Amino acid sequence: MRLSQFHLRTEKETPADAEIVSHKLMLKAGMIRKLAAGLYTWSPLGLRVLRKVEGVVREEMNRAGAIEMAMPSVQPKELWEETGRWAKFGPQLLKIRDRKEQEYCFTPTAEEAVTDFFRQEIASYKQLPVNFYQITTKFRDEIRPRFGVMRAREFVMKDAYSFHIDDDSLHAEYRNMYDAYSRIFTRLGLKFRAVAADTGAIGGSASHEFQVLAESGEDATVFSDGSDYAANVELAEAVSPGPRPAASESLRDVETPVQKTCEDVAALLDIPLQRTVKSVAMIGVDADGNDQFVLALVRGDHVVNEIKLAKLPGMGDYRLATEAEIAEALGSEPGFLGPLNAKKAIRVIADRSVAAMADFVVGANRPGFHIAGVNWGRDLPEPETADIRNVVAGDPSPDGKGILQIARGIEVGHVFALGRKYSEAMKCTVLDAAGKAVNPAMGCYGIGVSRIVAAAIEQNHDDAGIRWPEAMAPWQVAVCVINPKNDPAVAAAAEALYSELNAAGIDTALDDRGLRPGAMFADIELIGIPHRVVVSGRGLEAGTYEYRARTAAESENLDKAALLAKLA
Ligand code: ATP
Ligand code: MG
Ligand code: MG
Ligand code: MG
Repeated sequence: MRLSQFHLRTEKETPADAEIVSHKLMLKAGMIRKLAAGLYTWSPLGLRVLRKVEGVVREEMNRAGAIEMAMPSVQPKELWEETGRWAKFGPQLLKIRDRKEQEYCFTPTAEEAVTDFFRQEIASYKQLPVNFYQITTKFRDEIRPRFGVMRAREFVMKDAYSFHIDDDSLHAEYRNMYDAYSRIFTRLGLKFRAVAADTGAIGGSASHEFQVLAESGEDATVFSDGSDYAANVELAEAVSPGPRPAASESLRDVETPVQKTCEDVAALLDIPLQRTVKSVAMIGVDADGNDQFVLALVRGDHVVNEIKLAKLPGMGDYRLATEAEIAEALGSEPGFLGPLNAKKAIRVIADRSVAAMADFVVGANRPGFHIAGVNWGRDLPEPETADIRNVVAGDPSPDGKGILQIARGIEVGHVFALGRKYSEAMKCTVLDAAGKAVNPAMGCYGIGVSRIVAAAIEQNHDDAGIRWPEAMAPWQVAVCVINPKNDPAVAAAAEALYSELNAAGIDTALDDRGLRPGAMFADIELIGIPHRVVVSGRGLEAGTYEYRARTAAESENLDKAALLAKLA
């Protein structure tokens, strides 16, 4: 690409309204422009990077045996009613109406659509297993879109859905996808960790998130320094230092809204405090004497399902809040992929005494379901996130090996063994070997393609700008031409090098814009090209090119053979 014929528009000033470095640098480099809240235009430069990420994802999905397809972004209400998610998905689901007053949604995920495709296409176990994927635009009406494309409303997701005759096959594919994801994030040059995530409201047997480690991450991961243990803790579980209530003898006396620490709650209930971040009990208390409270036990951002709760001692005759009730109380989304907003207190469903609630808390405070924190009150402020380290770092790890550590992470991928929730709801069957109609087991596997672009910058930048990992750089090499208009020999040499590199399969940009060296180098550094070659009159006289890696402190003068060897 000749930059004189491309569209680059960088900015010198750091945009004031961007909070995190990736958002700042993407704006400064001119990769994205805001259209409206959570809606971004990808500039030609930004799109090159997005396409590189897509390319790696596509290659590895294909290599893993998944088959690419594409489903509509606008989907009919009737389809979403089959699974109940039209009502249950919550406010993240953008609903629209056509001229005939028919209702549709803009797809936030595509379990319904793919299951519908499957039931029309596949009849026999002989056609299984199969894994369909697409790389398309999704829309979620996020309550707080922020950080640019990191948490946008419209974003690019790779979503894959596998179908299986039995659970063994599902688990084999789950493992296969897990491995493919590990290859994808490794190839993209990201420092990441796969962590166990909660299967929560969706049920299912296994779920892992792939977290890119970065201080700006909205999630926290907890891992052991002595074993393979690693789990996700959404920051919602963090105990906020918050305003402390006055000493109080009973929960009833606690004013709301208020946010309490573990210590406060433990002291109030007179229970020993145990801390892990595997779970958190959420309690909603209504302080105006209406005795509304309850309860949902939440792990990660999902309500622990009833099966798990039923096993807990101390549940007594509590009625569990249903997903729909909790969703309604939270104005949130309980369904698959829809996190409960654990930052808000849960409105109370059952009518129980404070003492009974204390029993519950004690009952819940057992291995695997320790209380990490308790929030109550309504419309709580966002928890302060800085303190999560204090919650658990240093505790022994659940597997008894090592000490827990916490690191911030950005969720870039999520694999999920779904089971038969969708195939049953949508009456999707195949014939098994005995000729019997059975519901296939399903898995689903998402990657935040556009979020990866921002996540990579969080991990790879310096004061001068972005430092792209090779695999997602807009170009591998920039050939910078000094004074091309006045020096035809330099221009010709740069053109020759540019052609040669491209012919060798090295994606190269020729900076023939005729900018002064300082401005040109600043741009090339800002937009993060991994390798820079300067072609100048002085260099040509000496028979050398000035080469500098984006990550290197110094440049070096190399003859052409040495340069090509370096870039090959
Ligand atoms: P988050 O916890 O960040 O809200 P999620 O768990 O709701 O994400 P999934 O439903 O698991 O997201 O979707 C698969 C992937 O899509 C996520 O792992 C993430 O990388 C990406 N993703 C989800 N929401 C957004 C968003 N608003 N903007 C950009 N990428 C997103
Ligand atoms: Mg989400
Ligand atoms: Mg999540
Ligand atoms: Mg997720």
